[in-house]
Amino acid sequence: MTETARFTSAEEKAMRETVQSGEIPLCPRCAVLMTQRAIGGGSFGLGYHRQREWLLCPQCRRSVIFDVKRGTRL
Ligand SMILES: [Zn+2]
Repeated sequence: MTETARFTSAEEKAMRETVQSGEIPLCPRCAVLMTQRAIGGGSFGLGYHRQREWLLCPQCRRSVIFDVKRGTRL
């Protein structure tokens, strides 16, 4: 069995859209709130405008990482 189960691309897309609207998405498999963490804060290598969000489901342990563009600060 695969140890690192992944979400489908459609599921990842839906979660990304939820994050970008300012909300924390639910795991599409378990319907529990994903644990959300920001990655790269304080790291100058990633640049100012790129923020990485890491979403981890506490139940099924699936996780997804994607870049989120913050439009509020230019
Ligand atoms: Zn889950």
